[in-house]
Amino acid sequence: MGYPTRMDDVNYRPASAGFTPTREQMAGFDADVCAAPFRIAPERNDELLHDVLKGTPWTLEFNSSLDPIRNTFRAMPNAKTVEANYAALASLWAIAKASWLIARDAMAANRSGKSALDAGSGTAVAEARQLVQVACDLIGDSGARWPSDIAPPIPDAEANTEDLYINNVFLGATGWVVLHEIAHISLGHQAQVSSDLSFGQEHDADRWAAEWMLGELPAGDRQVYFRLFTISVALSWLAVLDSVRRGSTTHPHAWQRLQKLSPILPDEELNPGYEMAAYVLKILFLAEKDTPPADHPEAAFFDLVFAASRDVW
Ligand SMILES: [Zn+2]
Repeated sequence: MGYPTRMDDVNYRPASAGFTPTREQMAGFDADVCAAPFRIAPERNDELLHDVLKGTPWTLEFNSSLDPIRNTFRAMPNAKTVEANYAALASLWAIAKASWLIARDAMAANRSGKSALDAGSGTAVAEARQLVQVACDLIGDSGARWPSDIAPPIPDAEANTEDLYINNVFLGATGWVVLHEIAHISLGHQAQVSSDLSFGQEHDADRWAAEWMLGELPAGDRQVYFRLFTISVALSWLAVLDSVRRGSTTHPHAWQRLQKLSPILPDEELNPGYEMAAYVLKILFLAEKDTPPADHPEAAFFDLVFAASRDVW
């Protein structure tokens, strides 16, 4: 499958790392997190470094004092810094793994003619739901630890292992999130503005980051489906964040944000990225809802985004 290769040579440095309990699980990803906005769209690395970042790689700072409920990631234009919180990264990893487990098993079940996934104990669905709970707990309490009975992230996963695939999904989603922060700076966005203006800025930054990842890829490129899936994973994570935050005056709900991205996302009915993302939405977020079957994965995906967004406002 078309996963991005490692790119360790990006000149992008992590800064001071404060202590949080999840630092133990996540610090091994520092270099990869810093490389993530480059690695997710390597065809645009020169453009990102020279045209957007003006030739000076920005610092990605792992800031333990960021409150994960209010600020998981934050752009600091004057300091040319993007800040991230380890609890936020750990929760994003949990959602990436949950999404991967669902997509893997649902694709396999569909290929073998099964219409539903078993959700009993010990199944991928049960494990994925546990991981969603882990993500909620990590976001809700910045002092929370990774639970000892849940397999932790493995930053140095070996080639051709499932652990590496999961990390690649996590780093792809992280790439979109950091590009969103870069977009706020690149687009000259203002802090402390009205709710309406703030919501508009969020949608604009989302669109910028999605366009960055998808805009230069030829239709049908294998990377399209991987990147599409990781954008959906990032917004699924934001939806989990929204469920913990219970509303925001600065950020629209994640499902509304995903819906607003529809003109940017590829119009490819059978794109496997839509298929994978649709299974995740259905099983992790809409399991209780009756959702009619769709003609193809792209329609299924947008029907589910619409169904999810109807519940939130
Ligand atoms: Zn934002």
